[in-house]
Amino acid sequence: MLKIGCHLSASKGFLAMGKEALKLGANTFQFFTRNPRGSRAKEVDPQDAAALLQLAQEHNFAVLLAHAPYTLNACSAEERTREFARTTMEDDLHRMEYLPGNYYNFHPGSHTGQGAETGIRQITELLNAILKPEQTTTVLLETMAGKGTEVGRTFEELKAILDGVTLSEKMGVCLDTCHVFDAGYDIVNHLDEVLAEFDRVIGLNRLRAVHLNDSMNPMGSHKDRHQKIGQGTIGLEAMVRIINHPALCALPFYLETPNDLAGYAQEIALLREASQQL
Ligand code: FE
Ligand code: FE
Ligand code: ZN
Repeated sequence: MLKIGCHLSASKGFLAMGKEALKLGANTFQFFTRNPRGSRAKEVDPQDAAALLQLAQEHNFAVLLAHAPYTLNACSAEERTREFARTTMEDDLHRMEYLPGNYYNFHPGSHTGQGAETGIRQITELLNAILKPEQTTTVLLETMAGKGTEVGRTFEELKAILDGVTLSEKMGVCLDTCHVFDAGYDIVNHLDEVLAEFDRVIGLNRLRAVHLNDSMNPMGSHKDRHQKIGQGTIGLEAMVRIINHPALCALPFYLETPNDLAGYAQEIALLREASQQL
């Protein structure tokens, strides 16, 4: 069965998200670990976390994806900003252990003029400072659109980060379809070649999750504006090829399209219909 879900608001707690996902026809979901602007997180309610885990098990959910606040910057030129990213992510990983064995996705960061090489070094230093041998969470680097000074716009940059991390078995990659298309990878006309390139540079064994988004802008535009499935420059046919590609079809897919809940339910139904997964 296709593993698919969408981004949900965490404001009503874990169990509420699980129930919401079920209502939408999803069998997984993504959520922000805290306010996306990165403010203080409320305490985890262990009973709420346990209730979600039980629901997820009963309904055969795929792995859940927590998303770090997108305002964190692990490779800012400002030390205070890097320090804030480190303490926030460290706290998030601690909290993630209430939901053991799931994924934590983050944006590598923007080097703010320091250059990608310095950015990559700072990101690996941060990861080496916070990853713990005993953690059960896998941390995912998200492929980025290359807006401004974003790091992670090429497979080579992601590989360089992974290579610098000591506990590399705790790391993986989340491929965002809008972002890679924006970064200049032609997943519409050359999906096989893009995935072969990913395999050559990073290794497909590192690919753990897909953010499934159409894009408002043409390939290579470095804009990062998501569009509804089938209504953007990637288009429905390419989306259907992506969810059914042998290298991808068993992965969990998370929608981050500009939708309300009804819109997400429609996209999930559409993609389930188009899926060849039994
Ligand atoms: Fe993201
Ligand atoms: Fe994304
Ligand atoms: Zn995006």
